[in-house]
Order: sequence, then structure tokens, then C-alpha cells
Amino acid sequence: MTITHPVAQLTAEAYPKVKRNPDFKVLDSADLAYFRSILSNDEIINSQAPEELASFNQDWMKKYRGQSNLILLPNSTDKVSKIMKYCNDKKLAVVPQGGNTDLVGASVPVFDEIVLSLRNMNKVRDFDPVSGTFKCDAGVIMRDAHKFLHDHDHIFPLDLPSRNNCQVGGVVSTNAGGLNFLRYGSLHGNVLGLEVVLPNGEIISNINALRKDNTGYDLKQLFIGAEGTIGVITGVSIVAAAKPKALNAVFFGIEDFDTVQKLFVKAKSELSEILSAFEFMDRGSIECTIEYLTDLPFPLENQHNFYVLIETSGSNKRHDDEKLTAFLKDTIDSKLISEGMMAKDKADYDRLWTWRKSVPTACNSYGGMYKYDMSLQLKDLYSVSAAVTERLNAAGLIGDAPKPIVKSCGYGHVGDGNIHLNIAVREFTKQIEDLLEPFVYEYIASKKGSISAEHGIGFHKRGKLHYTRSDIEIRFMKDIKHHYDPNGILNPYKYI
Ligand SMILES: Cc1cc2nc3c(=O)[nH]c(=O)nc-3n(C[C@H](O)[C@H](O)[C@H](O)COP(=O)(O)OP(=O)(O)OC[C@H]3O[C@@H](n4cnc5c(N)ncnc54)[C@H](O)[C@@H]3O)c2cc1C
Repeated sequence: MTITHPVAQLTAEAYPKVKRNPDFKVLDSADLAYFRSILSNDEIINSQAPEELASFNQDWMKKYRGQSNLILLPNSTDKVSKIMKYCNDKKLAVVPQGGNTDLVGASVPVFDEIVLSLRNMNKVRDFDPVSGTFKCDAGVIMRDAHKFLHDHDHIFPLDLPSRNNCQVGGVVSTNAGGLNFLRYGSLHGNVLGLEVVLPNGEIISNINALRKDNTGYDLKQLFIGAEGTIGVITGVSIVAAAKPKALNAVFFGIEDFDTVQKLFVKAKSELSEILSAFEFMDRGSIECTIEYLTDLPFPLENQHNFYVLIETSGSNKRHDDEKLTAFLKDTIDSKLISEGMMAKDKADYDRLWTWRKSVPTACNSYGGMYKYDMSLQLKDLYSVSAAVTERLNAAGLIGDAPKPIVKSCGYGHVGDGNIHLNIAVREFTKQIEDLLEPFVYEYIASKKGSISAEHGIGFHKRGKLHYTRSDIEIRFMKDIKHHYDPNGILNPYKYI
């Protein structure tokens, strides 16, 4: 039986210790009149459209729910600037929102903060096919950015399973990692420039196209991964990569995590320049996904403890396929892996990726999930999942029943040393949460890992930075927040 929760509990009720900041103004009719004077009707959503309003208040996991009565959807940077200046002057709190696919409760209000959606800022501004520089509004949906670049023989240097909804400004604001980080690296390297509106309405316009620029502090880096706490990103300039002419994928069944690591070393050495993704899933992840993808036949014949998806991308299909075929044959001959399947065509390639990309949605459809996203040294990467699973098992929560109370699913990006641990549950309970936290964070701290590899801090991990960052680093972060947002109106109650 799958229990779905159409509506999350109000965050303010679920976390009664978090209090509304009394310095923030409560929205009144004069404020509404001001917003109406600068925005058109389709740039404002309020309680007259309760269903639409609700969708901006609740997160993708249906774990957090705010109580905003006003969503502003400006269609220009100038309007964002006017909104921010007004809100800062009046001390109205604001939550910037992109596609609302965030996984740490960062994109939705906690109380009655105004939601500032970038949805109407959705135009491609410029593309230079020689340098590959792509400039767009922050609200362009990732799927549309991919489509535009694909049509121009390029690709966006980041892809992720939420691409149909998340926005370019959103992925920059979370410094998302995604599925091809191994090949294209971090947004800290790929973003060339940003246009940002500060809380006081000032616009930093540095949406340039230069690959190199050493003139002083690189301010844009502060906004990459800031989760909307110090400015609203309105424009992005990024370097797109040339579209690979040949793509392929292979899916492996493996019995232990040591072998996953050996396979990674072998793939780096033998597939080298064409290796573009190395993803892994454990047995729990695939069991959950098999239940979810009822119409898609599983590519392997047997069940295994681990599964690996390797993607290659290059410029010569025959060359790449020969290399991958030899790699697959050698791994089977040397008994490194138990079973493997290589995609025969594009449809096969898409199907193999579906097994990986569907894991988060499959876990969420179980009922709900506690989600952890951690960086560890490769040798320790899976150990956190094993430790948590043992703990839940000892509490009798993971049984043999076809649908136990809790399902532990570990998967992620081996190439980036990043594991996602999804504890899929039928419902959120205090007992499960207490078993998981602070245990997970203490475990990560003991291994000198990071409590967030790519999803960020948000509401979920507020006050937890000390597990990864030193006191002095946290002090500097607070200084930066105070410098840019002295009234604390941008995305309050989260991050630091
Ligand atoms: C199924 C699924 C799979 C995912 N897979 C991955 C993955 O592989 N890798 C990964 O890194 N992440 C992944 N994510 C989470 C990821 O963080 C988001 O999908 C994406 O980065 C958020 O973009 P968004 O536009 O939805 O932003 P939102 O969710 O709306 O916002 C995220 C944060 O950014 C802020 N923000 C948004 N837009 C702006 C802006 N223009 N200016 C300032 N602040 C802004 C918000 O206030 C919030 O703090 C996944 C999510 C889902 C649902």
C-alpha cells in the first residue's frame, strides 16, 4: 500500500520552536496596492487563487509547507529591483523561488514570507556559437535551456532528473551538481557572469562572457549556492559545451562496494576521455524503482547488491562503442562484475538512464522520504548507508514484509564522491527522525565529509553547518549575510 500525502503539515506547526521574526511586517492592503501599481495581473497570485497559491507554498517532497498569501512573478529585472527595494524598506520577508524542486525546504516560505517567483523571466538573451557562451533569464526552465542549446549543437553543462521543472537561476542558486559533474565540473567553474538584484534593490550586472577575469574578488561565486539568501539572480551567463556526437551507456550488476570502486578506477583508466558519468544504486534503490516503474522491464536478469550506470560521450560512435564493448567484455571475463548490459540504441540508452533518474521519485512515491546528500571520501562513501540501515534494522523498522515501514536507498554519483541516502517511509514520524538525526550528521563529521554535497542547507539543515564547517568559516558566512541583507529579509529561518 502506498500512502501519498497530498498536503504537507505546516512547517510552523511541525517545528514549533522556530518562531516568526516579529520585526517582519505583516502584509497589508497598502503593500498590495504598491505591488499592483508596478505589476500586471498575471504577475500577482494571491488568496483569490487558493490552489495556485498552495503550489508555491509546498515543496516537492511534500515535507514543508508555508503560509504565504502573496506570490509575485515579475517579468523584468527592473521590477524585481523595485519589489526588493520596497520589501527592504518595509521589512517584508521574501523567498525567491525557481522551479520549486529543491530538496531541503529552501524554496518555500516558513511563515507568511512573500514568494518572488522567477517564472515569468524566461527568455534566452543571447548565444554565441563560437565561444559557446549562453546568456538567459534566471527563470528559463532547464529543459528549455537544454532544448535551445541542443538545437544549436551544444549542451548545458549540467543535467539532472528535475530538468522539466527546475530553472537555470535555481540550479545556480543551489550550485546543483547533477549527472555529468564528472565530465563538465561545477557551476563555480562554468558560470561566467550573473545579474543579481540585492535586497536593497541595487542591481549587480556582471553577465559577461569572459572566460578569464582576474580583476578583484570574484563576487559572482558568493551567489552560486547561496540559496537565495543574499540576492535574487535574474540573469545567468554560462559556458555551454559542444554537443557530443556519440552517447552510450552500460548497466552493471555488482555484489559489493569495493568492486564498485575497482570498476570506477578501471573506467577512468580505460574509458578515460569518453567517460561522462559513473552512477551507482544499491539494492534498496532498485527495489523501490522496480515497484514504481511497473511498465518498464528491468535490464538485468538477476538481483544484485549494487548497480552501476556508466555513460560515455564523445565524437566518434564507432570508436566509443568499440572501447565500451571491450571494457564490458573485459570486466565480465575478469569476473569483476556479475552481469552487464550495453545499450544497443538511443531508446535503450534512455531506458537505462530512466532506472537511475527515477530513483528519487520512486522513493518519494513510497509515502515520503528523509533525504540526505553527502560527500565522503570514496572509500567511505557507502559506509554511511550501511550504518544507517543497521540502525533502522536494529529498531525493527526494516523487515522482510513486501513493503516494510522504512526502505533504505543509497545511490549517487561515484565520480563526485557523493551519496544520496533516501530513507523512504510510509509516513514521517518523530521515532524515525530521532533515529536518523543527529546520527547521520555525527557520522559524516567523524569521517570528515560534508553534510551537503549538492542539495544545500535550506530549512532542513539550518544550524547544522558546524558538522562540516569551522566556527570561523560560519562567522564569515554570517558576516556576508549581514553585509548584503542587513534586515535579514531574504529567505529567512534557513541556511545560517
Ligand atoms: C527528482 C529530483 C532530482 C534532483 N536531482 C538533483 C541532482 O541530481 N543534483 C542536484 O544538485 N540537485 C538535484 N535536485 C535538487 C535540485 O536542487 C533542484 O532540482 C534545482 O537545483 C533547484 O532548482 P529550482 O529552479 O527548482 O529552484 P527552487 O527549488 O525553486 O529553489 C532552490 C533554492 O534556490 C533559491 N532560488 C531559486 N531561484 C533563485 C533565483 N533566481 N535567485 C536567487 N535564489 C533562487 C530558492 O530560494 C531556494 O533557496 C533534484 C530534485 C528533484 C526533485
